[in-house]
Formats: sequence, structure tokens, C-alpha cells
Amino acid sequence: MTIYFDNNATTPLAAEALEAMLPYYKEFYANPSSIHSAGRKARDAINLAREQVASLVHAHSSQIIFTSGGTEANNLAIAGSVSGMELDDIGVSPIEHPSVRDVVRSLKSRCSVTELKVSQQGVVSEESINKFIDGKHNFLLSVMLANNETGAVQPVANFADKVRAVGGIIHSDVVQALGKLDVNFETLGVHLMTLSGHKIYGPKGVGAVVYDKAIDLRPILLGGGQEKKLRSGTENVAAIVGFGVAAELAKKRLNESYKHLLELREKFETQLKDIPGIVLFAEDADRLPNTTFFSLKGIDGETLLMQLDMQGIEVASGSACGSTNLQPSHVLSAMGIDEVTAMGAVRVSFGLQNTAREVDVLIDFLKQLTSIKSSH
Ligand code: PLP
Repeated sequence: MTIYFDNNATTPLAAEALEAMLPYYKEFYANPSSIHSAGRKARDAINLAREQVASLVHAHSSQIIFTSGGTEANNLAIAGSVSGMELDDIGVSPIEHPSVRDVVRSLKSRCSVTELKVSQQGVVSEESINKFIDGKHNFLLSVMLANNETGAVQPVANFADKVRAVGGIIHSDVVQALGKLDVNFETLGVHLMTLSGHKIYGPKGVGAVVYDKAIDLRPILLGGGQEKKLRSGTENVAAIVGFGVAAELAKKRLNESYKHLLELREKFETQLKDIPGIVLFAEDADRLPNTTFFSLKGIDGETLLMQLDMQGIEVASGSACGSTNLQPSHVLSAMGIDEVTAMGAVRVSFGLQNTAREVDVLIDFLKQLTSIKSSH
């Protein structure tokens, strides 16, 4: 049996979600745009899922546009919201997912792009936001609610107040916060939010944009005009149904899952800190309850990942494949972490299925490994 500690990459599919999805592959396969009763049944299922997803984020169902995932939702939210607007600048945090960073980069021919600063704890600096906003009106700001690598939670509601006060637009990728924190579209105050199904025990290949109807959102995919003409393409009915059920479950068990995840993380970090040479990233930041990003001095992250894998323990490393070699995480670089330490980075992200016993197995192995290393 393997131990899966890579839940920020993806979560296992909840049994309830799978169960709800299967009939939409087997029996209710009609196209939701068809007028006949089978088509209407598929349409009703999408509408129910829309209510379930909206309820999880305290939004109205008419504000939800289903997409093929978080990546497409980030593309639609950013490219689609600036498409019709007079645009001077886009402000973006340096710790965003590539599906935000690369879309923003692609808009460089239309406007200037400002990269904000983050603290050593991985939190976007308020000062750099103030500086960016100063004197501007025609701009978009994109800051994620929680970072996928460090888990650091960003003061997005505060930034949204500032942006709205001067008439700008603000987007937040809440993919990692969803299901772990109570994400509230109303109180967060952003104009656009990105969601993804497979980080909340729903299926892969489905996500959503939540949007404030006051903004002029335009489609990036043209065609049959599904999803209020904002996302053409026959809907992935089964995946949308699974996302809806996962959202309902997430809402129901939010408090219980927060408590469980935090217990696992605290148990892990308490023992991790006893290991000599440990560096815990974003330790002092407000963090997601399930995420620990760390480095062990003298041990390369990729090597540690492979050693853990051989023990049946699945984690993520912080480095990414560049064109010719491994690159340190862009998140750690933005935090000013030196390259050697950053190349040692490993991320453990707990999920609802994990147990305290599994944490013990990981800790025992790390302790064993570091004691072997230090005796050499
Ligand atoms: N945004 C964040 C913060 C993510 O962690 C991810 C997935 O890793 C995405 C966006 C992309 O979502 P998807 O895999 O549904 O395209």
C-alpha cells in the first residue's frame, strides 16, 4: 500500500462523486442542449451542480461558468475580463500558478505588467499592492487565495477593497483554498474567482469561473454558445455532476476536514522540527491546514522524493523541469530563498484519507535517513 501525500496536486475522487457520475456515462448521456426529455435531464443535472458549487462559495448559481478545469478558468477569468476593457496594467503576484502567469505574460503586447513583491514568508506585500494601484483605474490584479506550494494564505479581501475603491478589477485563483477554507465570494470581494474540481475530491477536467456580473466578461472559446455564451463546447455532464457532489460534500465537512488536516500537519511539523538541518518554508505565515513545504540541508529534493517513492510514500518536490535542467521553484525564488535550499524543497500535502499512522511512517523514514546521512 502506498501512502499518498500529494493532495495539492490532486485528490482522490470521493466515492459519492463517482457514484453520482456513473449514470451520466451509462444512461443519461444525452446532450444537455437537446430539447428532448433526456437532454433536459442532463441539463437539470448541470443546474443542480451549479447550485451546489455556488453554495460552497456563497455565490449565486447564475455567477458560475463551468470550464474544463482550473487552467481554463484562469484563462477565461483573466483574458476574458480584460478583452473588452481599456487596459493600462496588470498586476500579478510572482507566486501564481503558470495558468495565471502565462496568460498575463501573453497580454504584454496590450498593456504593462507589474510583478508584485512577496515577503520571505511567501505573502504578497501590501506595500507593493499600494504602489501598483496608486493613480491607476484601468487595471486587473490577480492574486491567488492560497499558494499551492507553501500553502500561504494571501490577504485577498484586503486587496479587493483597495482595488474596488479605485475602479480596478481583481481576480483570485482559489483552487487550493477551496474545500480547505471557507471561501466566500461575497466577503472576499473579488470580481472573478477560479475553481477546480479535482482538488476537492471531485473529478479532473472540470472547473469554474465565479464572476461578478457587473464586469464585461467575454468568451475565449467561441462556438455553440453554452454556459451563457461564455464557454462554448458541449458540457462534460458527468464531470460537472461529480464536481457538484464534491462541492456539497466539501461544504458539509468543512470544519471536520480543517480539524483533521491541521492535526496531521501539526503532528508532522512538530516532529519534523526535531530533525537537524530542517528549513520550513512560510512557517510563520497563515497557511492552509494541510500543506508543509520544507527542505533538509544537504539532501536534494528530487533525490528525497525518489527515496520516499521507493518506500511507497508519494510527495512532491519543489523544483520544476526547465528546458535543460531542474529549476528551483519560482515561489521560493520570489521569497528570496537561496538556490541550494530551494533545490532541496519537498512538499507534503495531506488529504482527508490520510491518517496519523501514515504521518508516523513518513517521520520514521525521514529520521532514519537523516541519521544515516549525519553518521557518514
Ligand atoms: N491553480 C492552482 C493554484 C493550482 O494548484 C492548479 C493545479 O495544480 C491549477 C490552478 C490548475 O487547475 P487544473 O489542474 O484544474 O487545470
